[in-house]
Amino acid sequence: MGFDTMNVSIVPGSFDPVTNGHLDIIKRTAQLFDVVYVSILSNSTKSPLFSVEERIELIQRVTKEFPNVKVEGFAGLLVDYARQKGAKFIVKGLRAVTDFEYEFQMSLTNKQLAPEIETFFITTSSKYAYLSSSLVKEVSKYCGDISQMVPHEIIEDIERKIGGRYDGNFKDY
Ligand code: ADP
Repeated sequence: MGFDTMNVSIVPGSFDPVTNGHLDIIKRTAQLFDVVYVSILSNSTKSPLFSVEERIELIQRVTKEFPNVKVEGFAGLLVDYARQKGAKFIVKGLRAVTDFEYEFQMSLTNKQLAPEIETFFITTSSKYAYLSSSLVKEVSKYCGDISQMVPHEIIEDIERKIGGRYDGNFKDY
């Protein structure tokens, strides 16, 4: 079966770094589609903690048991990238009402640009509803425990990059 007859989907995001919330959405998407591209948007104006190459490697490490998950960086318009990949589906995770307004706008914009591509929303698992990459960075900056927030394989990479390591004690400042 060629890719053209397969259901290909894209899970886009900044993943700086990937969290258990992202991973949950990626795994659930991998069960629904033949091929899943986890695609890291590199034209963001935010200055990232991890480079695109580093983020690709971190996501590859935590998704290695899913052979249908591929990880890539991309720049430009998501719909152009999706067309290039032969993907007819964009999958986004929804945490709360706060995600909705922006995602709703994005999905209508993408629909106008590429009517053949559908955006699917997957509701977050309740245990990850609070999680975001920025929260992970904030907690790690102050040496908080991030072990419930990100896959264990990448904890050291984050702590090394941010310079905070949780030792179970309060710091004196
Ligand atoms: P963040 O907001 O954590 O920086 P991204 O911009 O990388 O995340 O988000 C990529 C996608 O993952 C978005 O669709 C976002 O709604 C979704 N997502 C992020 N965190 C979670 C979570 N905890 N549960 C479900 N979906 C999430």
